[in-house]
Amino acid sequence: MKITIIGAGPGGYETALEAAAKGIEVTLVSSGPVGGTCLNEGCIPTKALLRSAEVYETVKEAASFGVEAGECRLDFAAAMARKDAVVDQLRSGVEFLLKHKLITLLRGKASLCGKNNVRVALDEGGEVNVEADYVIIATGSVAASLPIPGADLPGVISSKEVLSLEALPKSVCVIGAGVIGLEMASMLNSFGCEVSVLEYCPDILPRFDTDLAKRLKQSLGKRGISIETSAQVKYIEATPEGLVTSYVRKEKECSVTAEKVLMAVGRRPALGSLNFEEAGIAVTPKGVIVDAYMQTSVPGVYAIGDIAGGYMLAHTATAQGRRALNHILTGCPKDGPVDSIRLDVVPAAVFTRPEAATVGLTEDECKIPVKVCKSFFRANGKAVAMGETDGFCKIVASEEDGRILGCHLFGPHSSDIIQEVAALITRDATLKDLKGIIHAHPTLSEVILSAARG
Ligand code: NAD
Repeated sequence: MKITIIGAGPGGYETALEAAAKGIEVTLVSSGPVGGTCLNEGCIPTKALLRSAEVYETVKEAASFGVEAGECRLDFAAAMARKDAVVDQLRSGVEFLLKHKLITLLRGKASLCGKNNVRVALDEGGEVNVEADYVIIATGSVAASLPIPGADLPGVISSKEVLSLEALPKSVCVIGAGVIGLEMASMLNSFGCEVSVLEYCPDILPRFDTDLAKRLKQSLGKRGISIETSAQVKYIEATPEGLVTSYVRKEKECSVTAEKVLMAVGRRPALGSLNFEEAGIAVTPKGVIVDAYMQTSVPGVYAIGDIAGGYMLAHTATAQGRRALNHILTGCPKDGPVDSIRLDVVPAAVFTRPEAATVGLTEDECKIPVKVCKSFFRANGKAVAMGETDGFCKIVASEEDGRILGCHLFGPHSSDIIQEVAALITRDATLKDLKGIIHAHPTLSEVILSAARG
């Protein structure tokens, strides 16, 4: 069997490796470096820089832990160089894994021509046509921008450009208080940059639990990040003082002046040049239309990850790739399960300081009567010992049978702790089941047990 996979981000390359491990011949086409947005200009470089920011903050607070660290100074160029080294190391790892005898990696731009045929304009010149039994499209997304005057001025940048800044700006105005906007705001603030955030919606992180969003906003505010919600950005102007971003809030015209403006207003599927129409594949501006098996309107052609809309997360893309592959390996059934992957249970984390994380339904999303249980990190022994007591845990469960439906965390290491609740929801566990699980003491994950105990 042969499969062509277009795009070598976490969706594409992980699916390629899994397919090859199952004995399938794979052609993987990549127009950029392997690892895609996540590894090269998203999750990984951001986390590397966030670690530098965390170390910097920790050293500044060293005296409160009884440690004399002397004068503390940020070397921004060194932090950037470390980030590059982390990315290079991981990318080399992926490149090594892809040197599998059943995987052919083609560097170039692919377009669909018919159901089983993919044309690749090679980076080295020339074109090839690749025939396969199945095609999986995993071409990801691109940063969206606002159609406002000044959006294309020099100094108005995307998250990709923040990750390759040569010097730390004195001030940044972030447009959009979603995941990218807040992670970048938190990181830049830790590095010592003056940060203002403008958000169109009444709350930050509009798709998250409202309690969580409010507490995170307060916490970031205490750190000196100015956040204006319900702010409608109108235009950006270049002035001798810097970039002036004008917005309307409660019918009042306001503005923020900053050295750089970071546009973080979402991402859109990279539908670009793939030739969907010619291939007869149904798409909307939100992404390629797929069924529960990630199959497009053309049987045998699949779309996974950001290109299919939905949760734009690396781990979603990987899980969707496994679903597509399982569908192929089980003979492409028309209905019924092909695996036990729960594509509806997606943990997500925001790597601010402190972190936030979520899985399952928010209270507002539940259509049945629910019970809400809470606990606070200030009552957690490990958090107090660490000096990181800001945060809480909220579990949403069915009032009728105690089935856990969602969990919303804000506090130290939330991104790691959330995984326990993802496992519980995936197995339809109840609050009673959770209370029956011994949690090691003293650990941050006891915050989950404390919430369940009420
Ligand atoms: P997002 O959708 O999370 O947030 C965009 C924000 O911009 C929203 O709050 C929205 O209300 C706001 N906005 C839109 N128009 C605006 C306007 N005119 N003025 C002011 N604000 C406006 O998008 P994002 O933060 O750009 O992230 C893109 C995708 O990448 C998301 O799907 C996100 O989940 C994913 N991502 C995930 C992680 C992670 O898992 N840690 C990290 C980065 C990105």
